[in-house]
Amino acid sequence: MSADLPAVAPRPARPDNEAERLAALRASRLLDTPREQSFDDLVALAVAVTGASMAAVSLVDAERQWFKAQHGFNACETPRDVAFCAHTILDPQRVLVVEDATRDPRFEHNPLVTGEMGIRFYAGVPLLDAEGHALGSLCVFDTRPRPLGEAEMRALQALARQAGFLIELRRTTEALNLYVNECAWYERRLLHYSELLEAQNADLARQTRTDPLTGLANRRGYGEVLGAALERAEQEGTPLSVAIVDLDHFKRVNDSLGHGEGDRVLVRVSQALDEKMKGVGLAARYGGEEFALLLPGADLEHAHEHCRMLCRALAVMQDCGGVTASIGVAQWRPGEEPGAALSRADAALYRAKLGGRNRVELAS
Ligand code: GH3
Ligand code: MG
Ligand code: MG
Repeated sequence: MSADLPAVAPRPARPDNEAERLAALRASRLLDTPREQSFDDLVALAVAVTGASMAAVSLVDAERQWFKAQHGFNACETPRDVAFCAHTILDPQRVLVVEDATRDPRFEHNPLVTGEMGIRFYAGVPLLDAEGHALGSLCVFDTRPRPLGEAEMRALQALARQAGFLIELRRTTEALNLYVNECAWYERRLLHYSELLEAQNADLARQTRTDPLTGLANRRGYGEVLGAALERAEQEGTPLSVAIVDLDHFKRVNDSLGHGEGDRVLVRVSQALDEKMKGVGLAARYGGEEFALLLPGADLEHAHEHCRMLCRALAVMQDCGGVTASIGVAQWRPGEEPGAALSRADAALYRAKLGGRNRVELAS
């Protein structure tokens, strides 16, 4: 070996639990985070209690030491190989005190000692997380050699414990935030699903009240609207009439034009009834080629008039194969069951059929 080669500081060893320790350091999520007052306060206190000119919270990463807080010098990181703190973490239970680095074989050739920074004194307390991993150190250092007093050491150890608590607090807070966010996420998903379910239920409920061919209310939908309308009529003492419309000789439409054309006629008739019941009441598909009408506020005379108009309108529809309708009308009697009024309308319809069809008959 040539005597001219520059002397080299020995590389700090790696702790036995290095992989675990690095995992814990990463989990702390402290590396490369912005400055924080609480860590700055600790290094300011370390300087105040020891009288050293510089202090740092150093985290020992795989190949570097990164300063979470520093006081009295300007650097955010150094290579791990020159870091005093890389030696400190080798014994997590002990404070590393170097009174004069020029007399310590581990540091006498360290560029931080031999170079511009000129470090002589160093004292570092390992920073431990809750599991005892040494993540780095809280350290003070100076350009003049000096000892570390007993009281100063105890104060530094207390500050390092505070730093450890801070790191734990951060970790707990992060875990809590994660948990809270996860809960909020589940809550949002749950809300989304319940809205979806509600919408599907509403859709399903609508489907159970709607006739799929014509889009009119079906018998169930009609029954519900009728029930509500009767309640109102009873409370307000207003008249209400119902009617049953049955298409005449509809079988012939199917027989002559086909079932598909029969369906189309049913849709056209439905549209016409729906249109002409707007502002008057409701038209529903009650059965195959039978429709039920609800005329709230209409007494028998008004309902009769309206149904005659409907009869005439259906009879002159151009695209319905000349189909006509017979209608039976009944005015609801206060106290009467809804079904009873509909039966009376049906009986009237029967008379309309017997009377020759394409006409309106009134219930007695
Ligand atoms: P009436 O004047 O006595 O009422 O004679 P009608 O032929 O209308 O009476 P009927 O009860 O004998 O026949 C009703 C017909 O309505 C029979 C059935 O095929 C037809 N029909 C019922 N529902 C539908 C449907 O959804 N589509 C089609 N195309 N036809 C239907
Ligand atoms: Mg019928
Ligand atoms: Mg019929």
